[in-house]
Amino acid sequence: MSSMRRETDVILIGAGVMSATLGSLLKELAPEWEIKVFEKLASAGEESSNEWNNAGTGHSALCELNYTSEKSDGTIDVSKAIKINEQFQLSRQFWAYLVNSNLIRNPQDFIMPIPHISLVQGEKNVTFLRSRLEALSNNPLFQGMEFSEDPEKLKEWTPLIMEGRTSNEPIAATKIDSGTDVNFGALTRMLFDHLKSQNVELNYKHSVEDFKRTNDGRWEVKVHDIEGGNIEYHTAKFVFIGGGGGSLPLLQKTGIPESKHIGGFPVSGLFMVCNNPEVVEQHHAKVYGKAKVGAPPMSVPHLDTRYIDNKKTLLFGPFAGFSPKFLKHGSNLDLIGSVKPNNVLTMLAAGVKEMGLTKYLIEQVMLSNEKRMEELREFIPNAKSEDWDIVAAGQRVQVIKDTEAGKGTLQFGTEVVSDADGTIAALLGASPGASTAVHVMLEVFQKCFPERMNEWEPKLKEMLPTYGMSPVEHPELFHQVHTSNSQILGLSVEEPVFA
Ligand SMILES: Cc1cc2nc3c(=O)[nH]c(=O)nc-3n(C[C@H](O)[C@H](O)[C@H](O)COP(=O)(O)OP(=O)(O)OC[C@H]3O[C@@H](n4cnc5c(N)ncnc54)[C@H](O)[C@@H]3O)c2cc1C
Repeated sequence: MSSMRRETDVILIGAGVMSATLGSLLKELAPEWEIKVFEKLASAGEESSNEWNNAGTGHSALCELNYTSEKSDGTIDVSKAIKINEQFQLSRQFWAYLVNSNLIRNPQDFIMPIPHISLVQGEKNVTFLRSRLEALSNNPLFQGMEFSEDPEKLKEWTPLIMEGRTSNEPIAATKIDSGTDVNFGALTRMLFDHLKSQNVELNYKHSVEDFKRTNDGRWEVKVHDIEGGNIEYHTAKFVFIGGGGGSLPLLQKTGIPESKHIGGFPVSGLFMVCNNPEVVEQHHAKVYGKAKVGAPPMSVPHLDTRYIDNKKTLLFGPFAGFSPKFLKHGSNLDLIGSVKPNNVLTMLAAGVKEMGLTKYLIEQVMLSNEKRMEELREFIPNAKSEDWDIVAAGQRVQVIKDTEAGKGTLQFGTEVVSDADGTIAALLGASPGASTAVHVMLEVFQKCFPERMNEWEPKLKEMLPTYGMSPVEHPELFHQVHTSNSQILGLSVEEPVFA
């Protein structure tokens, strides 16, 4: 084993969509900075960002009902839905900027227009859906959303779901055509190709193992060159830990005070994929239902038209499950290895509090294929077992921390954890996920480069025209940007009129 030392400005750990987004933004904002990437697998976008490992929904709260909750007075809280949609707009604007500047090409290889539909059954749920539409209808971000309780209309929107449906329960749906299917794997690979062309050094089969703070305030990162069998030491002024599920153990190794009292709870996923092209052709939408009582928000069932490898396909799920691994290619010792003296009480408190979730996940793991088919038949009554296969999705590691809500509280969002000096940042959690990558990176900038924000603002505004603005307060600008980006990204369906 030999060892070597090298210096650079920025180290990005992990070649997923998050590091890809951060690297691409930095190349525009500070092109002179030298960037190195270390990824333990053989290529980019092989973990959660891979197209088969996530649902590919451009999360903008157009159809995901878990982003709008019913308040005790029966009104609908839409604040989270608006926030997520605004965050997705920033990603969309950045992708359009990259395409328009010829930095990436062929947007149809990573983003496609697809109607987003919410479908519910039962009187209470129908009332909820109607109230939700009313609450969103004045917001420019949700213009063009239609509602129907008419079975004939619903047959037009979702023929596969309506065929063979015998229940007399009330049923209703909303549909909006400005939804998207995003191939985050293809996007990640495109962004890394772009970074390579900008002289970013990409090191695959290089696993980051440890960190040491140097006397001059930089970070020395210990890297294992898996193929060569060497240990390398690289020093950087700024390190981003974008290891997906692998971020928590890396963050713990930094020893920064902000890494203490945080735990992770891994949730695995499975999708059912349709192998019958005739069935695939009968569906053209992402259809989200309501989560079952007790189910975590990320296991809301949905039936999705997907575009993968230039082919239309159909996925149903995800079915959640439990696995102690933090990454799909991780180790069964990941969970136990993440329990440290400083977070053991936090983890134990979560264990006690989340018995219901643990039970739910174990039940999900135990589901037989026929039981999964029964869940699918709630969406497609005539679904045949032979038309559907199972694929394992990515791992999500939910953050556990002590909050005002109590010790050991499970978080379902993403969390940027950085040190006080802004020299290192890690991204934990996975929801809403890849769709909001640009917003997450803006948070990294605010935490780690506050002194640069004024200098960077003009470029940020060029790339993200609604940066720092609320679309509700600037509907005309928003409409103009949305329409022109739709053209650039090939998403032009009939554009709704923004009030
Ligand atoms: C089932 C499921 C469904 C989802 N659906 C959606 C969706 O519909 N829409 C959406 O927007 N988001 C969705 N997400 C979330 C989304 O996939 C993630 O937020 C996103 O892919 C995370 O990207 P990342 O770059 O942080 O992590 P990853 O893509 O997991 O990349 C992390 C990389 O770091 C590498 N790594 C880890 N440790 C080390 C180390 N020590 N040294 C070197 N490299 C290391 C890994 O090998 C990996 O390549 C879903 C996720 C799952 C699991």
